[in-house]
Amino acid sequence: MGDRPLATGAAGLAQWRALFPILAQPVNGRPLAYLDNAATTQVPLPVQDALRRFEQHDRANIHRGVHTLSQRATDAFERARGELERFVGAGAAHELVFTSGTTDALNLVAHGLSTAGISPATIRAGDEIVVSGLEHHANLVPWQQAARRAGAVLRILLPDEQGQLHADDLARLLTPRTRVFALTACANATGERPPFEALLAQAAAAGALTVLDAAQAVGHGTLDVSALACDFLAFSGHKMYGPMGTGALVGRRDALERLEPLRYGGDMVVWVTQEQASFAELPARLEGGTPNVAGAVGMAAAAAFIEQVGRQAIDEHVAALRAHAVAGLAALPGVTVLSADGGPSAIVSFVAEGVHPHDIGTLLDEQGIAVRTGHHCAQPLIEHLGLGPTTRASFALYNTHDEVERLLAGVAHALEVLR
Ligand code: PMP
Repeated sequence: MGDRPLATGAAGLAQWRALFPILAQPVNGRPLAYLDNAATTQVPLPVQDALRRFEQHDRANIHRGVHTLSQRATDAFERARGELERFVGAGAAHELVFTSGTTDALNLVAHGLSTAGISPATIRAGDEIVVSGLEHHANLVPWQQAARRAGAVLRILLPDEQGQLHADDLARLLTPRTRVFALTACANATGERPPFEALLAQAAAAGALTVLDAAQAVGHGTLDVSALACDFLAFSGHKMYGPMGTGALVGRRDALERLEPLRYGGDMVVWVTQEQASFAELPARLEGGTPNVAGAVGMAAAAAFIEQVGRQAIDEHVAALRAHAVAGLAALPGVTVLSADGGPSAIVSFVAEGVHPHDIGTLLDEQGIAVRTGHHCAQPLIEHLGLGPTTRASFALYNTHDEVERLLAGVAHALEVLR
C-alpha cells in the first residue's frame, strides 16, 4: 500500500486516520485538530494491538530467565531491535541501543564521551565540541555539561538571520581539536531542515565524531544512517507513532565502544566480584537495568506502520501541509513565519506582532486546535533570531488540509480578538 499519495487514491487519508481513534474525540466541544506532533504523535491501532499482544502473552523480564515467557520476551525485544535497525538503515557496523527517548540517547553520548571509566574519555581538557545553534536543549545542555566535565571548549555554529546554517561557518569552527559535531536533522523550534548530510560529512572529514538528532526526522523522510557520515543517531518512539518514553541511539560500533555507560548494574555486566566487574559487549553494556520491553515492541510496530503507509508519501504529505500553512500564515497581517524557506519539514512556527503566543494557543484550544507555544526547548535559538516565543503547529500523516484551514481561520480570529 505504501507510497501512494496520502491525500488521494482509493485508500486515501481517511483510512489511515481511522486507525487513530483519539482523533475522533471532540475537544472543547469541537472536532480535534491535533497539531502538536513534533512533541508527541498519536498511536495507531496496530501499534496499540502490538503493545496489548505483548502484555497479554509475552510479558516477562528479558535475558535473565530460562522460562518460556522470558525467552519469548527476549526474542520480541531483540526482534524489535533488528527491525528498527533496518528501519534507519543501520548496517553490520552499527548497533542500536534502546533508550527512553532522544534526550536519553544524547545524554548517553555526551556523558559517555566525556567521562573516563571502563575506557579513557574521548573529550579531554582543551578539546573542542561544536554544536549547531538550531538545537533543542537536549542536544545542547548535555554538551555544555560534557565540556565543563572535561575542561573542553564548546563552540556554536550559529545560523544566519533566516535561521540557516552554512558550511563556511562550520569550516571556520572545525580544528584538529574538534572531537564532536552535534546537529539536528530538523530544528523543532523553526522547522528548518539544515543540509545535515553535507555538514556531517564536513565535520567527519575534519576528524570529529558526528551526532545527529533525528527526533524530528524519523517519523517521515527516509533516514538511512549508512549513507550518512554519522557516528551517533538519536530518535524518539513517541514522535514516530510509537509508545511514550521510548527511543533509541544507533551508532557505529567503534564509536559506541567509546561510551562510558550511564547506568551500571544488572544486564550490562558479564561477571562481578565484591570489588569489580567485567562488562558486557554492546549493546547490552549501554542498557543497564530492565528496559521498556513493550516500548521496544511498540516502536518496531510503529516503524512497520510508517513503512506500510509509505515514508515518501508521508514526507510529501506533511511538507504539503507545511507549505499550505506557511503561505496562509504569512498572508496574515503582522505575522512572521520562521524559516519560511527552511526546506521540507513538518513544522511551522510563527510570531504575530503585538500578540503573545500563549494567548493564540489558548484561543485555538477553545476551538479544538492543539498547537504548542513558547521557546520549544530551544531558548538560545529563539533569542538568537530575536523574535521571542512562537506558536508552533506540527503535522503528521493523519493531518488534513481542512485542519490547516481551521488553523489559519483560528489564528486570524485570535489576532482580531487579541489586537
Ligand atoms: N530533539 C529534538 C529536535 C526534539 O524536537 C525533541 C523533542 N521535542 C527532543 C530532542 C527531545 O526528545 P525527547 O523529549 O523525546 O527526549
